[in-house]
Formats: sequence, C-alpha cells, structure tokens
Amino acid sequence: MTDSITLKLTKSQETKLYEAFKEYRHKAPAYARWQLRPENCVITCYESGKTLFQGKDAKIYASPFTSSADTAEQPSGIILPQAGSDEVGTGDYFGPVCVCACIVTEHDMTLLNRTGVRDSKAITDEAILKTAPELMEQLTYSLLILNNRKYNAVHDSNNMNRIKARLHNQAYVNLSTKAPLPEFRVIDQFTPEKAYYRYLQEDRNVVRGIHFETKAEDKYPAVGAASVIARYAFLKCMEELSERYDMQFEKGAGSPVDRCAAEFVSRYGWDALQDVAKLHFANTEKVRTLI
Ligand code: MG
Repeated sequence: MTDSITLKLTKSQETKLYEAFKEYRHKAPAYARWQLRPENCVITCYESGKTLFQGKDAKIYASPFTSSADTAEQPSGIILPQAGSDEVGTGDYFGPVCVCACIVTEHDMTLLNRTGVRDSKAITDEAILKTAPELMEQLTYSLLILNNRKYNAVHDSNNMNRIKARLHNQAYVNLSTKAPLPEFRVIDQFTPEKAYYRYLQEDRNVVRGIHFETKAEDKYPAVGAASVIARYAFLKCMEELSERYDMQFEKGAGSPVDRCAAEFVSRYGWDALQDVAKLHFANTEKVRTLI
C-alpha cells in the first residue's frame, strides 16, 4: 500500500529530516527545494513549506513529526519500531569485542526514557550494570562476544573493520531469527556503507537496508540500548577475567594498561596474554620494554 502524507514542518524539523537521510538525496522536482529517497519512501520538501512523504513506508518516515502537537523538541530518529547495533571493546587492549543488535518498539520507549538509555560511553559502569539487565529482560536483542583468543586468530587475516562488519551482520542475522527486523535499521557507522558490504562479499546471509550514521548512539534509541547491552557484556567478561587471573584488568589502552599487562605476563607468561588481550595493539610492544 502506498501512503501519501503532507506536513508543514518547522525549519528545524526540515533540517533534522534532511540531515538524517541526506545520503539518499535525489534530483529535486519542480517547485521543490530537495528530495530524498530512502528505502520505501520519497520525501519532497517544497518551496511552499510543505513536505510530502510518499511510498510504502511514508507513515514511518513521517511519524517523528506527527506524534504530537509539539514535535520540534523531540530528538531525531524516533522512527519506531527500529533496530540498532553497536560494538564495544575495540578500543580496549584487554577484554573481548562485544556487538549487540536490538529492536526498540514504541512500547519500549517508556523503559528507555525512564532508565535514560543513551550512548554507553556517556553512562557510568555502575549505571550500566543496573540498567542493562532491565533492557535485556524486555527488549529483543542478539549479542555476540568475540573472545581474545579468537579475536587474535581472526585479526591475523582480517582488519578491524572487517571483523566489526561481520559481527554486526551476524548480530542482525541472529536478531532476525528472534523477531521480524523492523524496516528501519541503524548501525553506529564505523566504516562507509560501501566498504561495509564489501567486507561481507563472501558471507552468504547479509542483512541489507541498513542506515549508517556516526554518533548514532545518541540519536537512535535502539543503538543506545545496543551500546548499553554490549558494554554490560564487556564488563561481565572483564569481571570473569579478573576472577580467573586474580587481578584487576585496566580498561582502555593507556600506560596503566601497559603496566597491568607487564604484571600479567610476569605472572602467567606471554602465551596466556592471547587469552586476555588484543595482541596487535601497540601496548604489546611496550610490555616488552617493561619486563
Ligand atoms: Mg560505536
């Protein structure tokens, strides 16, 4: 079914809409300022100040601007339901890489607003440990954890972005077995869209129709929630490593990490390091100078 919706948007709403989908810009027809053609919708902003949404998903794209009388203050990206994904741990020398994809529906927004879910980098670890279990209880999500030994093995023949692309894709594939994927899917962009699909050339099952955007954790609730769940999994893995090796592992990749790794190697040896760290980081070389 093809819907057609005409709205009079404020200037800031027009800008938000344009910014969100500008990569789908198309030649503007007569009397129009611009036209965007994201999946299943043609959005035309006319000189008259009217914006026309046409197509199968017109309602979805127009929904952020039709839900209440005063929508100008709403954050962008409230196209619901939506799926989003994010990864955690790629900048940490110790610990796994965790990728989560999840679905957020209109109904879930009450929980997300109450818990104040957004980018995990903007939330303390204590808050993550408290909030994430609630999200995991309610949301449909899939989580992948690439442990250090596997990471080191695949990193030899793949670059980091390829590893990320394959994990994100697998997270979406797994998610699609739990619930139908919403039409609107967002990845917190770590590589351009073309490169992303090039990394997946040899994969049999590839989820397409994804919107790529940087800093998406702040703009799209599903990406924010995915980021919180992935961070939770990362923190839990770090706790397990601490218990197993009876020591605290530093996060990040700064000099405290070098000292921590040197302590680890002196206690457990170089071979064991591949079970807890990402060996290609420059930290590994620094550890050699410390012991
Ligand atoms: Mg990210």
